[in-house]
Amino acid sequence: MSRIAVARIDLSALRANLARIRTLAPGAKVMAVIKADGYGHGLERVARALADADAFGVAAIADGQRLRAAGHGKRIVVLSGPDEPADLAEMRRLKLDAVIHHESQVQWLESEKDPRPLAVWLKIDTGMHRLGFAPEAVAAVRARLAALPSVDPDIVLMTHFAASDEFDNGTTAEQIDCFQRVTADFPGERCLSNSAGVLGWPQARGQWVRAGGLLYGLSVVEGKCGADFGFQPVMSLKTRLIAINALQRGEKVGYAGTWTCPEDMPVGVIAIGYGDGYPRSAASGTPVLVNGQRVPIIGRVSMDLVTIDLRPAPQARVGDTALLWGPGLPAEEIAAHAGTISYDLTCGMTRRVLFVESD
Ligand SMILES: *Cc1c(COP(=O)(O)O)cnc(C)c1O
Repeated sequence: MSRIAVARIDLSALRANLARIRTLAPGAKVMAVIKADGYGHGLERVARALADADAFGVAAIADGQRLRAAGHGKRIVVLSGPDEPADLAEMRRLKLDAVIHHESQVQWLESEKDPRPLAVWLKIDTGMHRLGFAPEAVAAVRARLAALPSVDPDIVLMTHFAASDEFDNGTTAEQIDCFQRVTADFPGERCLSNSAGVLGWPQARGQWVRAGGLLYGLSVVEGKCGADFGFQPVMSLKTRLIAINALQRGEKVGYAGTWTCPEDMPVGVIAIGYGDGYPRSAASGTPVLVNGQRVPIIGRVSMDLVTIDLRPAPQARVGDTALLWGPGLPAEEIAAHAGTISYDLTCGMTRRVLFVESD
């Protein structure tokens, strides 16, 4: 047991974060984005904790199948829609909403004869240039969809922001203008904002917001963590100290000896590595909390182990707990040291990590 890395998932923090999103986006319905296994926190557990959300957003039909199997009756939106014609029947069977973003999907809808209406979210590319119809194509596509008896007439209009995490980046204002221009003549609900949109772009609210990161207490705003906006971290990743070695000045630590002891010093070894999903790219200096004390990692992260400088925590003993991220040590800070974003860290937990819940 002592060698196992444990990810503790705080369900009450998840609920508090959903409530905080509602405070920041008053009047908007919240689609809780729980793709990628709930950003690595566990799909079913996250969905259970977020039973109050107005809809769930997932990337794949398989997630919809899991959610229906777990008994969830609410609206589920498949964010990239059907991948092939046969998906349409499965989406109807499971009552999954489809984001329609491409001409091929419109043609599949036009060529089927299913009488059961499918709920559709029409995705407009206002500048992200990933998924969605070009602004000039939208009116015609919307008319074709609205003409189909197999499509629910309440078509939701949506777009996605490319840079909403930069509050002074004019791209988002341009995307909002483009969306408003293109959709001005159409009825129906609007859905524009992701988490960063909720934080920084209140004018983009619409009837729906789609929030992922903030639910988990994570932010992608440069230099800020979720707690800076009143959100609580949901995942705490912990392990144990399994060795403490007294090394001498000049001795090198870990693969390729990338770190050299500047003096005689205690070096700790903790039972976690990239085999658990701790990022191999985390550089020397990335903090770990040992008994609540910040200490830096030193040398390369290996598959099962990480070495740490215990000079700031001379009282540490084998068996003590080390926190890799969680309350008191934001995943955003670790991500910055590892050259990535916090979402990438929580999504990257491997099957070797033991997940536990607290309420
Ligand atoms: C993942 C995703 C979201 C959620 O983004 P966050 O930054 O986690 O809030 C919203 N909309 C779409 C289309 C997505 O793919």
